[in-house]
Amino acid sequence: MLTEAAIASLKSNMRGELIEPSDARYNEARKVYNGMIDRRPRIIARCMDVADVIAAVNFGRDNQLRIAIRGGGHSGPGLSTVDDGLVIDLSTMKGVRVDPAKRTVRVGAGCTIGDVDHATHAFGQAVPFGIFSTTGVAGLTLSGGHGYLSRQYGLAVDNLMEADVVLADGSFVVASATENLDLFWALRGGGGNFGVVTSFQFRTHPAKIIYGGPLFFELADAIPVMRWYRGFLSDAPDEFYIFLGLHIVLPADPFPQEHRGKKCCVLVVAHNGSTTDAERAVNTMRAALPKPIIDWAQPMPYTALQSMFDEFYPKGMQWYWKGDFVRTLPDAAIEAHLAHLGEMPSPFCVMHLYPIDGAVHRQNEDATAWGCRDATWSMVIAGVDPNPSNFPTLKKWTRDYWQAVHPFNLNSAYPNFMWDDEGEERVKAAYGNNYQRLATLKKKYDPGNLFRVNQNIRPAA
Ligand SMILES: Cc1cc2nc3c(=O)[nH]c(=O)nc-3n(C[C@H](O)[C@H](O)[C@H](O)COP(=O)(O)OP(=O)(O)OC[C@H]3O[C@@H](n4cnc5c(N)ncnc54)[C@H](O)[C@@H]3O)c2cc1C
Repeated sequence: MLTEAAIASLKSNMRGELIEPSDARYNEARKVYNGMIDRRPRIIARCMDVADVIAAVNFGRDNQLRIAIRGGGHSGPGLSTVDDGLVIDLSTMKGVRVDPAKRTVRVGAGCTIGDVDHATHAFGQAVPFGIFSTTGVAGLTLSGGHGYLSRQYGLAVDNLMEADVVLADGSFVVASATENLDLFWALRGGGGNFGVVTSFQFRTHPAKIIYGGPLFFELADAIPVMRWYRGFLSDAPDEFYIFLGLHIVLPADPFPQEHRGKKCCVLVVAHNGSTTDAERAVNTMRAALPKPIIDWAQPMPYTALQSMFDEFYPKGMQWYWKGDFVRTLPDAAIEAHLAHLGEMPSPFCVMHLYPIDGAVHRQNEDATAWGCRDATWSMVIAGVDPNPSNFPTLKKWTRDYWQAVHPFNLNSAYPNFMWDDEGEERVKAAYGNNYQRLATLKKKYDPGNLFRVNQNIRPAA
């Protein structure tokens, strides 16, 4: 039983706010990015610093509350909130400190990608994160983190140098290549299973002006474009990244009126070399492909590319997604993809194939906990729409689509693209040969499975 005295004691131990259901701010505070998630936590602890996090972890554990950890709140299945439990909300812990000489950046656990990009961009540097600036750094990094710079510089976890962590027993530790090495290994892919990370230190890399943007191709040209794309990665230099998408042209500015509503195959390019090299590479690509109906690829600040799609997907839309790792894209798979593009129920739905190669492949499989370095792509199919009444249709389309293409894919998925009902076998598959070691470390660092609102790794028996 949670007592008023226990809550009062937590309040007196925190500088941040506690938000309960009776609070006028509660309904806003419990919202996450996915508008379809409607959970009612018993209490939201909005932490300001590490001391607040220690107090909150101790409170949650001692009062036997289920604990959800919130970084940016972007988890599709809503793994940063919990009915009747405690949300440890880190979203106000936003400090960023760039060390341009050492090429590192220290990042508070509540930062979004945009917060960090903004700070590092001033120095012409960046960390490889994801492709929406509104996504949280914490959840993205702890389960891997792939994006435009991953072919060149690896995953976010490959660039993590150090993390400050509050463990399940309330103790504070630093994990790095020299301290708590086993925990450092587990944090680089093992998600929120091992503790609450309060800050991260990353290596940064040069990325200032990037040649980037989307090219939209008519549906009639989708097969040659997808065939071209499946051969592209093996010859392309690491600094040339392209992800493939299947989309409907949105009925909104700046999309040209005459193309709105068209089903399209999209290539989103990001070349982080010199502008001359980039122009040559993208023009060679253009020459090899059918003429796109929209071609917005051009030199732009890295931060512009990173935030290019944010405005079309504001907080509060309905999301359902499923993913898989993919090694090859045979013609039969292309056909299955295009059949489901044909059935797409909303112009906000997407299918994306993100490259997993280059620098990601150059790390050994067991160098970090992240589990699938021999995939070629990470696939996500996302049913998205603003209207809650469309959710059943989005879910059905996503699941049917996934069923149709899954036989061509690997039997595992990026944990950040899994739903919360996929079962333990899928979690094991996501980590492959690294799973057993993760379960052993879970037993060491969180034997009671306090941190289980996540893609859960159960403590070894
Ligand atoms: C629009 C959109 C675009 C995306 N694009 C990409 C992409 O390009 N690349 C990519 O790799 N992924 C991408 N993702 C997936 C994204 O990485 C995950 O949704 C991720 O969980 C988001 O992190 P967050 O901090 O916002 O999550 P939250 O919802 O806040 O947290 C998710 C989980 O992470 C864990 N967690 C969060 N913070 C901490 C912490 N400080 N300590 C310990 N555990 C913590 C918890 O277990 C929590 O349950 C995208 C998601 C969306 C919605």
